[in-house]
Amino acid sequence: MGINAVVHMASNKASSTLFQVSLLQALALGDYDGSISLGELKKYGDIGIGTFDGLDGEMIMLDGIVYKASADGKVYQMKDEETTPFANVTFAKDDSFEFVSTDSMKDLDETLTGIVSKKGINCVHFVKIGGTFRSIRLRSVPKQSKPYRGLVDTLSTDQVEWTPKDIKGTIVGLYCPSYMGMINNHGWHLHFVSDDRNIGGHVLDVSMKNVLCKFTSVDKLELILPDRPSFHSLDLSVDQNKDIKKIEGSE
Ligand SMILES: [Zn+2]
Repeated sequence: MGINAVVHMASNKASSTLFQVSLLQALALGDYDGSISLGELKKYGDIGIGTFDGLDGEMIMLDGIVYKASADGKVYQMKDEETTPFANVTFAKDDSFEFVSTDSMKDLDETLTGIVSKKGINCVHFVKIGGTFRSIRLRSVPKQSKPYRGLVDTLSTDQVEWTPKDIKGTIVGLYCPSYMGMINNHGWHLHFVSDDRNIGGHVLDVSMKNVLCKFTSVDKLELILPDRPSFHSLDLSVDQNKDIKKIEGSE
């Protein structure tokens, strides 16, 4: 009986883990080949963001289902056999809630950062933002063929954008603290999918009023690196901070 009580308390305090596949900096250098299957990825989370083999669109994982916001403007539910070169997932705990209004990405960024700074600015945080968005500017990118170009070059010619208005949906977002700036993006990275699963993408700008934000704070990191020549040959000593900000759309 005593043991049961201990187990119960321990499970109440269970921590959350960010499971990250590869580095955003490897993706930025054009390492676009998928390294793990979506079926495997689902063992480590039920919400998340990322992309697919060949940089084929924007990934949104929501409630354990993996969606692709494709450059053709449609959203597809992806099969477990498909693969990803870069993804970030966790199991949503939704351990706190806030209602947020914002007129711009910068505004949302600052508001969300203000909220997570009260929970621990040096931890990783996920957010699920669900409701009606007045306006949301989204982008995606079509599947690339080899030889792959870097991400800044690829986006400069191939990025496609949409700005749906008054649309119901969910943003899944990830906050990484500053010390993760060499393996991911310092700050927020947000992907959207509509409730009708007709439109989605990487969020470039957003306007919303009183929309519910549910947070999951993460205190463990698990990083899976692709063991292959294309990854081993990358020069990851270069500071790509400027390129990463361009890629994220914040510059
Ligand atoms: Zn993105």
